Amino acid sequence: MVEKFEEPIYVTRPLLPSIPKMMAKIEEIWASKWLTNDGEQQRHLERELKEYLNVDHLSLFANGTLALLLGLKSLELTGEVITTPFTFPATIQALEWNGLTPVFCDIDATTLTIDATKIEALINEKTTAILAVHVFGNPCDVKKIQEIADDHQLKVIYDGAHAFGTQLAGKSIGRFGDMTMYSFHATKLFNTIEGGALTFKNPLHVDKLYALKNFGLEKSGDVVHSGLNAKMNEVQAAMGREVLPLMEQEKARREKIAEIYKKRLTDIAGIKIVTHLEKQCSSYQYFVIEIDAGIFGESRDWVHEQLKHYNIFTRKYFEPLCSEFEWYKLLASSQRQHLPQAHKTVSEVLALPFYGELDLASVEKICDIVKQLRNDVTGLEKQQLGVVK
Ligand SMILES: *Cc1c(COP(=O)(O)O)cnc(C)c1O
Repeated sequence: MVEKFEEPIYVTRPLLPSIPKMMAKIEEIWASKWLTNDGEQQRHLERELKEYLNVDHLSLFANGTLALLLGLKSLELTGEVITTPFTFPATIQALEWNGLTPVFCDIDATTLTIDATKIEALINEKTTAILAVHVFGNPCDVKKIQEIADDHQLKVIYDGAHAFGTQLAGKSIGRFGDMTMYSFHATKLFNTIEGGALTFKNPLHVDKLYALKNFGLEKSGDVVHSGLNAKMNEVQAAMGREVLPLMEQEKARREKIAEIYKKRLTDIAGIKIVTHLEKQCSSYQYFVIEIDAGIFGESRDWVHEQLKHYNIFTRKYFEPLCSEFEWYKLLASSQRQHLPQAHKTVSEVLALPFYGELDLASVEKICDIVKQLRNDVTGLEKQQLGVVK
């Protein structure tokens, strides 16, 4: 019998720079008396991230949701946008705030990203874009998506909130499509407390996006867009500059944790590890398993609840599906029969505790506990069958 953890083990913990380092940056900001609006820290971070992510154009925002919202706005889309129901509500809300209608497409069973083979059937004369999500850092089928977009003159926007540092065949994930959104929320791999960015292809968007996040004001002083206030402030940017150098160490730690999970959990019947595709440099944002209730003997929800008794807090993503929201569930594309994989996946996935600070002995113990749960289930089955008296 494995004992419960004394202290709660959460699914993630924010990556924090040392207080002296952060204080040194705060002192710089105080000395400058420049707190926001295209400040030094923000300019530096923009350059550092362009280099880290290996992209040509990048614009910082107050958070990822506003980045996506204004990214969509900058593309001047209308009508319908084909997207995935298996994502965080923000993806779809960014469409809503632009007056765009989501058209939900089912997902791929392996990558859990939009099923590119099902996109074309959803295109009509109102379709103007595809908004896809690199779920858990797994890249979408970017090649196929671009082919479809080219054939039908559609824009392509990626929600890359989970894909910081993900590469595909040696190329930064932020270089695909017209635009990619990154989130720098505290729970994300790289954080600026709250924050986000867009990477994009079109150099004309440098000024356009700056205007959009700054009340629509152009450099001339004219207001030519209906903008918002969505600027990243100097303290956020300073945080990012101190977190960025910690990235490689954090990823290396997470890699070790992932190795243990993979080694220990693959043998447990009914548990599948959500695949990280080959030729891809994982973002190490989450470690996610799928629990097949038919084989495991109990559901994902049961495991999630049982683990709480051991002081382990896992997370179910992304329940409910966006197609199940009150105000979308009557859309034709929201109907369950069109989204069988999304419905299956959303009932099976579970994100396990995953952050660099988590010590390896605790990871082993989490695996012991999951194994114990499975043994409890089989023990129960045997009792019911009369094998064990
Ligand atoms: C975190 C997240 C967002 C929202 O980003 P914020 O920076 O919190 O606004 C959007 N999409 C996905 C997939 C996310 O995980």
